[in-house]
Amino acid sequence: MPNERKRVLILGGTLEARHLAGRLAADGRYDFITSFAGRTKERSLPAGEVRIGGFGGADGLRAFIESDRIDLVADAAHPFAAQISGNAAAAAAAAGIPCVRLERPAWEPRDGDNWKPVSGIDAAARAIPAGAAALVTVGRQEIGAFFARTDIRIVARMIEPPAMEAPPHAELVLARPPFSLDDERALIAGKDIDILVSKNSGGRSTVNKLLAAREQGLPVIMIERPAKPAALSASCVEQLVSLIDGAFG
Ligand code: NAP
Repeated sequence: MPNERKRVLILGGTLEARHLAGRLAADGRYDFITSFAGRTKERSLPAGEVRIGGFGGADGLRAFIESDRIDLVADAAHPFAAQISGNAAAAAAAAGIPCVRLERPAWEPRDGDNWKPVSGIDAAARAIPAGAAALVTVGRQEIGAFFARTDIRIVARMIEPPAMEAPPHAELVLARPPFSLDDERALIAGKDIDILVSKNSGGRSTVNKLLAAREQGLPVIMIERPAKPAALSASCVEQLVSLIDGAFG
């Protein structure tokens, strides 16, 4: 008997993508595969089929959609992974299938926060005052812009080490989220940090650095999200499942 279930491609790299895979596996109504860029080694794989590595641009993704008989793309990529989201929208349109996105809500400043919004990595690196001790939490791919600032002290927290060697004025702290408020208080106090650099990734697993910064009156250089093409979007996994159901009405 032929497999009648619709096949969903989940673009992963986030906790929500993992939860979506778990949700679809438990639900059983869809066939699905999760794709990772392969930026970090996954500690444990999500439920269901997994593939790792780029597709080769929007054309490569379209070819994958067709060869793997994908019926819908569920883009649950990181808020800063704008390239893959753009490719997903273009490839799905070209293949004539729906693309729905999970857009994790951005963090908003609260009373007591001292955020300096900046539009990208280079602007963030330039915004750190000379002589400061900066906790930089932007990941490993773009840390070079900060390493180039030899007039500051850097504590760079990331999951895995960067491709380049850390210079003498930078210290790596290798750790995987989630981080508790106590973890963040201890890191900021223990390393004598006086400014925090963060992407506005949103979500709970790394929000405690912002609470600790607020408590300690630290300024935060907050990198705003890159633009993504318009898409039918949900803000949580359950809403995304509703969008997937709706697409197959
Ligand atoms: P990106 O700039 O959107 O994507 C660059 C290329 O990586 C894509 O064109 C694609 O290659 C490949 N790619 C990305 N996500 C993929 C996926 N789920 N499956 C297969 N291929 C994928 O994303 P990025 O370079 O990974 O990261 C950009 C920003 O997002 C960085 O600031 C990073 O810190 C942040 N971020 C990313 C992830 C993640 O898992 N990707 C997780 C946390 C944070 P092809 O064109 O060859 O298909």
